[in-house]
Amino acid sequence: MNIVIMGAQGTGKGTVAGLLKGDLNIPHISTGEIFRKNIKEETELGKIATKYADEGKLVPDEVTNEMVKNRLEEKDCNNGFILDGYPRNLIQAEKLDEILADKGKKVDMVIYLTTPTNEIVERVMARRECPKCKRVYNMVLNKPKTGEICDDCGVELIKRADDTEEKLKTRLDIFFKETKPVIDFYNKKGIVREEEISLSINRLAIDVAKDIIKDVK
Ligand SMILES: [Zn+2]
Repeated sequence: MNIVIMGAQGTGKGTVAGLLKGDLNIPHISTGEIFRKNIKEETELGKIATKYADEGKLVPDEVTNEMVKNRLEEKDCNNGFILDGYPRNLIQAEKLDEILADKGKKVDMVIYLTTPTNEIVERVMARRECPKCKRVYNMVLNKPKTGEICDDCGVELIKRADDTEEKLKTRLDIFFKETKPVIDFYNKKGIVREEEISLSINRLAIDVAKDIIKDVK
């Protein structure tokens, strides 16, 4: 099963992807992870990406496409994968089709997770991080045992500097603007599975993951 998973920050995408990965026994591939690996191993593509990043520029699609292509050629992708953070635009979506078509494959399912914006804001604003061990807590969903103190280190938790409401809303706006053409592209193929994750309808990431696993198996 070749899956693309999409969803804004704070929708529970990581939880859903993690559960699918464990149950379907296919790798969860995030572009962030691919980038870090290429940079760490100083591959040719990693060096190019570093150069752009150092100049404060966006890494061009060609570089990202090539990194994804290489990753999908690895053995653990033979039975499928969950791609996260890619494709981010129409050019990448078309490229992904091309990469897969070369191997006689295709994207089988696009999971699109949505959560009402007010809930995303609430959830992300409730996020706290331990400055020492970097463990992430959520003051609504995943509280520490006492106050705002790390269970492991006993130090006071902090709010990340980029977790302000204004910055979050800007990130969400960019996400929806970028994502829409990609969702439209996949909708035309009839492979989008849209799932709302929301406390207001009592539907959590774990419920969504369970339903998808049940339908896929
Ligand atoms: Zn800690």
